[in-house]
Amino acid sequence: MTIDRIVKKFQESHPDEDVTMLYLAYDFANEAHAGQLRKTGEPYIQHPLHTAFLLAEIKADLPTIVAGLIHDVPEDTDRTFEDVQKNFGDEIANLVDGITKLGKIKYRGIERYRENLKKMFLAMTTDIRVIFIKFCDRLHNLRTLEGLPIAKQKRIAQETLEIYAPIAGMLGIWRLKWQLEDLCFKYLYPEKFQELEQEYEIEKKAERNQYFQKIKIELIPRLKELDLKYDIEVRFKHLYSIFQKMQRKDRRFDEIYDVFALRIIVPDVNSCYKVLGIIHTLWKPKPNRFKDYIAVPKPNGYRSLHTTIFGPESKAVEFQIRTQEMNDESLYGLAAHWYYKSKNQSEQQPLWVKEIIDIQKEVLDTNELIKNIKLNIFNDRIFVFSPKGDAFELTEHSTPIDFAYAIHTNIGNQATGAIINDRLAKLDQELKNGDLVEIITDKGRLYPNRDWLKFVKTKRARDRIKQFARKSPLENIKRFIPGIKSKTP
Ligand code: MN
Repeated sequence: MTIDRIVKKFQESHPDEDVTMLYLAYDFANEAHAGQLRKTGEPYIQHPLHTAFLLAEIKADLPTIVAGLIHDVPEDTDRTFEDVQKNFGDEIANLVDGITKLGKIKYRGIERYRENLKKMFLAMTTDIRVIFIKFCDRLHNLRTLEGLPIAKQKRIAQETLEIYAPIAGMLGIWRLKWQLEDLCFKYLYPEKFQELEQEYEIEKKAERNQYFQKIKIELIPRLKELDLKYDIEVRFKHLYSIFQKMQRKDRRFDEIYDVFALRIIVPDVNSCYKVLGIIHTLWKPKPNRFKDYIAVPKPNGYRSLHTTIFGPESKAVEFQIRTQEMNDESLYGLAAHWYYKSKNQSEQQPLWVKEIIDIQKEVLDTNELIKNIKLNIFNDRIFVFSPKGDAFELTEHSTPIDFAYAIHTNIGNQATGAIINDRLAKLDQELKNGDLVEIITDKGRLYPNRDWLKFVKTKRARDRIKQFARKSPLENIKRFIPGIKSKTP
């Protein structure tokens, strides 16, 4: 990968912009990473270059691509965050800082932390562009995962599949979601992946293409009569979704015609309906499978006509008919439109997802620039890491004692000190989003300190302190010996 390729890609979507900054960022990163190699043996600079290229592909703006080029500089080189700030200004420095912070999130496959990690991921991101950079960073890391030990490969793949990919789906970044999922699938279930790859991408390819030809032979002459420009694409389901479908239905996935759809792209909305008419006169539509998402777009803004027909040999084939603009929006449109879609769980989304959707709708309505989007939906909550990288959700202004009780009652009862981000801290110090907190305990200690009630913020900590402090011998003595007055009831 070269900086020139990135500049060229960027100019496809931003023809009039000054690209000097891209070259400056490249020089800065190249110098900072000089001599460093990736685990694969490549020069390190290839990683930020690929990350930046992926960003250019999804039509990201200039500051985002600059931040993509220098995203690993403060964390992995002698250059500091201040150096980035001095050279590239606050906007880019903040993007880089956001990526560094997200890098601290680690998922070890423990399910009860999963939802919190997802929330944390979004809570720590005040600028949506940080998420795009993090996704592209992760995508390139996955593509070069073979350089790492197997255990680490699996950890990263699982984290991506359970944290990153669902967030990409929530934000409507389908193209990235599919790519992330298939790469994770390959590392987590190598045998299944190879089996499906062999079956669907190699063996049945010929069969599929033959069938596709049969459809084209009937369809193309009719399309030509319309005298319009059209494109026909075969949209093959990605392997991970086939795997999921097989698991859900608990059967082998033999019906090849279920795994692809034909997508027809035409210049305008009128032509969409004309093409639909042709398809329905050529082949019999399957009842109840026609969906007009142009007249009635999905809540996330998705537009297209969908219909399933009985094609040659009476096999069911799905068609998707749309304009180029609709197609772009559904695949890469994140720079302008990002929206929510999650087929499986739309009915019962947790509140915080609904809040995101609302923000997204607002954005679609006002057509605001992406950089102005702030994800301030977690105003009253913070997320704090344990030393193992597990995430805990706490009330704003919470203290190490709140955190200790969130982990375990015994940790709370035995807490004597705290280390926040490698620094010794007091038990009443206010915690901030993304803090890494370690609690120092004294196993000999059995009861909490009642004074903690003065500063704890969570109900859980307060309840536990009251419950256990009451049991302390001193409390009992105070209560039963007249003349000694207890300060607390
Ligand atoms: Mn990176």
